[in-house]
Amino acid sequence: MLFVLSAPSGSGKTTIARNVLRHFDDLSFSVSATTRPKRPKEIDGRDYHFLSRDDFERRIEEDGLVEWEEIYGNLYGTLKSETDSAIGAGSHLLFDIDVKGALSLKRLYSDDAVLIFIRPPDLDVLRERLEHRGTDDETVIARRMQRAAWELEQAPQFDHVVVNDDLARSIPEVERIIGIYMNGSKQQQ
Ligand code: ADP
Ligand code: 5GP
Repeated sequence: MLFVLSAPSGSGKTTIARNVLRHFDDLSFSVSATTRPKRPKEIDGRDYHFLSRDDFERRIEEDGLVEWEEIYGNLYGTLKSETDSAIGAGSHLLFDIDVKGALSLKRLYSDDAVLIFIRPPDLDVLRERLEHRGTDDETVIARRMQRAAWELEQAPQFDHVVVNDDLARSIPEVERIIGIYMNGSKQQQ
């Protein structure tokens, strides 16, 4: 199964994803490709596959991506090699991708893709989290905030919505949702 976490940037989906991955043995992270510059604590191959724009565009031409989007001026996408190797190994996959990418995966994988929307309590809290994270300058934060309102409107298209007010509540809630589907898929086998 494909579990897809989406949210406006700064909502906390990466923090939630890291914790949820530790909870399940048979869940791996789908490492996306991006042309965005690496942040200080990020590791190539673990957080993202950091590619040049030329390399990314070549992979699009070679049909090497399941889905891709241009977001805040950078390209982001899911590599076919990433999904193929997880499906081959019989592992479930966890995605941290944008709303459009999530809806593309739903169209491709229908019931095998579970879309979970991580909602910030409100837009003021979202801005505070982006500022507090300290990874983006004011222009980048403004772009992310501009997109957030549209993203929040897409939440009803998701299978589940989890409000990330308190991580002590939102992390177990996402684990509970994923656990239900995993148990269901085991019973079907
Ligand atoms: P995203 O991956 O959605 O862009 P992050 O996981 O990077 O978001 O979280 C953005 C910032 O907000 C980080 O500094 C993170 O530590 C913080 N954060 C995440 N969830 C919460 C929460 N429930 N309460 C307070 N801070 C949070
Ligand atoms: P960030 O730059 O904060 O890591 O990510 C910016 C946005 O790109 C986030 O909403 C993130 O979920 C999204 N994103 C990351 N990887 C992918 C991907 O493979 N496909 C799509 N469509 N979006 C992605």
